Amino acid sequence: SRVDNPYVDARGYVNPEWKAKADAEPGGSRISNNPTGVWLDRIAAINGVNGGMGLRAHLDTALAQGAGYIQFVIYNLPGRDCAALASNGELGPTELPRYKTEYIDPIAAIMGDPKYRSLRIINIIEIDSLPNLVTNVTPRPTATPMCDTMKANGNYVNGVGYALAKLGALPNTYNYIDAGHHGWIGWDDNFGASATLFAEAARASGSTVDNVHGFIANTANYGILKESYYTIDSTVGGTSVRQSNWVDWNRYVDELSFAQAFRQRLISAGFNPNVGMLIDTGRNGWGGAARPSGPGPLTNVNTFVDGGRLDRRIHLGNWCNQSGAGIGERPRAEPAPGIDAYVWIKPPGESDGASREIPNNEGKGFDRMCDPTYTGNPRNNNNMSGALGDAPLSGHWFSAQFQELMRNAYPPL
Ligand code: BGC
Repeated sequence: SRVDNPYVDARGYVNPEWKAKADAEPGGSRISNNPTGVWLDRIAAINGVNGGMGLRAHLDTALAQGAGYIQFVIYNLPGRDCAALASNGELGPTELPRYKTEYIDPIAAIMGDPKYRSLRIINIIEIDSLPNLVTNVTPRPTATPMCDTMKANGNYVNGVGYALAKLGALPNTYNYIDAGHHGWIGWDDNFGASATLFAEAARASGSTVDNVHGFIANTANYGILKESYYTIDSTVGGTSVRQSNWVDWNRYVDELSFAQAFRQRLISAGFNPNVGMLIDTGRNGWGGAARPSGPGPLTNVNTFVDGGRLDRRIHLGNWCNQSGAGIGERPRAEPAPGIDAYVWIKPPGESDGASREIPNNEGKGFDRMCDPTYTGNPRNNNNMSGALGDAPLSGHWFSAQFQELMRNAYPPL
């Protein structure tokens, strides 16, 4: 009974909690009616944190809104966020049994209530998890001890498989696995290996690839949707842009080309030929005064790429509260071949991480990639972090960022 593309001919659920925060900002009502992801980022979120809405409240409100689809983020793996600290979670690396019985099982039970059968329930599965097991493990220079642990103990793979199997057993759910972004798995070393690992996870814990409806790129990241002034095939004086410092041998220069190509690679790895891609465009607009209006000078590949690139980050590996970012394309269905929708899964205005140490009981650490004075690590080739200052804990409302995102929106608001 599933449709091919759950975003077609369906209104998206508007999360009243996000909408209220956006509406409280000057100018926020220009975007507050857009659907955003509802993050189930801890066990307590199922019933609602600090008096907030829980899973049932969101589903009931979706019915009341007459929504056609609602988007949840399943985000609570054991040893979560193994290559960073800002979104470490509540479950330790060995706590797969709790993930299953205290998190996935109750979510599946609520989503399975027949009264929600008319809703298309979209589940975004575990942001920033599986690609870490390819890119941030020994012997890579980017390895972290926690990613080595999560690869060795199998709990990411088995956790994702369990979530896919349980949630995929319901007739009206649509599972989309997180597929990182072009600035992460767009390199040859990472591309095929990630597809292979995703296929392994899709077949773990009793799941099959039939539980996977598609994949999502760029959630919680800032990669440009489409560069206007060069493609991966551009050259300067016979030298490929792949040799520029910015592209650095990546095979893709933007999220759209990456998502379309990765879709084909995933199908080769065993996924169904009708899988669809989502691209998170909540924060990849890169408009405003600093947006180039033409190609860079043809002096060499670096002047050409740096002068013309719309993505204004200091380095592709920068991911936390990026300075200069803007709201991107508004959510919409079927925007391009192979793409089910542009979506806002990371709710614009919610922080990626605190810019200094902030004590908390959410399990969240202090990651210096969120500190504007940090000079980097191997994962961003030792560049400045590019993060905004005065940022709150990940997931908390960051008014200054929300204001900048609106100012730099592209297309403009
Ligand atoms: C945080 C979550 C939050 C989500 C959406 C993540 O970085 O760790 O707690 O729900 O972002 O803002």
